[in-house]
Amino acid sequence: MSNLEVLNTRSPEQRTSQALDSVETTKANTFEASEHTSPHGSRAIKEREAHKLEKRLCRLMGQAIVEYDMIEQGDKVMVCVSGGKDSYALLDILIKLQKRAPIGFEVVAVNLDQKQPGFPADVLPRYLASMGVKFHIENQDTYSIVKDKIPEGKTMCSLCSRLRRGILYRVADEIGATKIALGHHRDDMLQTFFLNMFFGAKLKTMPPKLVSDDGRHVVIRPLAYVPEQDLIDWSQHKEFPIIPCTLCGSQENLQRQVVGNMLREWDKKFPGRVQNIFRSMQNIAPSHLLDRDLYDFKNVRATGVSTPGGDTLFDEQEFKVPSTLDAFGIKLEP
Ligand code: SF4
Repeated sequence: MSNLEVLNTRSPEQRTSQALDSVETTKANTFEASEHTSPHGSRAIKEREAHKLEKRLCRLMGQAIVEYDMIEQGDKVMVCVSGGKDSYALLDILIKLQKRAPIGFEVVAVNLDQKQPGFPADVLPRYLASMGVKFHIENQDTYSIVKDKIPEGKTMCSLCSRLRRGILYRVADEIGATKIALGHHRDDMLQTFFLNMFFGAKLKTMPPKLVSDDGRHVVIRPLAYVPEQDLIDWSQHKEFPIIPCTLCGSQENLQRQVVGNMLREWDKKFPGRVQNIFRSMQNIAPSHLLDRDLYDFKNVRATGVSTPGGDTLFDEQEFKVPSTLDAFGIKLEP
């Protein structure tokens, strides 16, 4: 695989960072060249990459927490841990940030053992104990309820996750949690955005912070800015003991997979596009959309005063192609 192909399989941040690395590599001295060839050298490179990834994960999570005021002094944060890569990474990075945060907050990991056949009940308690984190395992046989209610061959995820949500809210009450942290990442949010648009005719996604539907808890998504590929890499580096979610035999939402593939394909062909879509969700102009509830179109009147944000009417809009990637020899399609 060429350098360019390697770069194109990664997220924009990783491509930029890798591209920078390759520039650094060309400047490498003889000592660095020997580093590449010896086993000790390749271990050092891996460690350097892992260190960079850890820094990026801490930065992105810290930024999301600060920008959305997710965690306050004295909070008790209940981290929902499923045994998947995302929730392991969420817990891992949040504990790192907790140690250096200027405010004090507690972290409690909670896992719901849904009694799926073959669920390795010892894996999470062993891992959480080894981390030295406070944890609670809630045992509830939602598997039997879901199997009983959903006809054979139909997807069980919707009922399963609704039951799970209700139980986790109750546990949050019982342990006195003030925030519930979920492991959804940037790409989950983008997929949900497109699924809502394609099948629900709505512009909406999973927000980074919201009030739970029982009105009693604040749910936060500290991984909101983190691309999924970074979590895959971190999970491999940390060798998290992954427990698959499909032990129940249900299939993952097919449409979500299709949209996920569409985004990955775009990211490969048009570097920067996926991150731009994400940024667009943070940069909304209600006056330039069509929602009459969000903008008072009825009272739009000529004021005689020029408006910088007003419509440029007949002008063709120009879009800037990111030049940074050009500089690294990555060809951007028109
Ligand atoms: S895959 Fe199984 S455990 Fe996971 S949400 Fe769907 S039904 Fe529930």
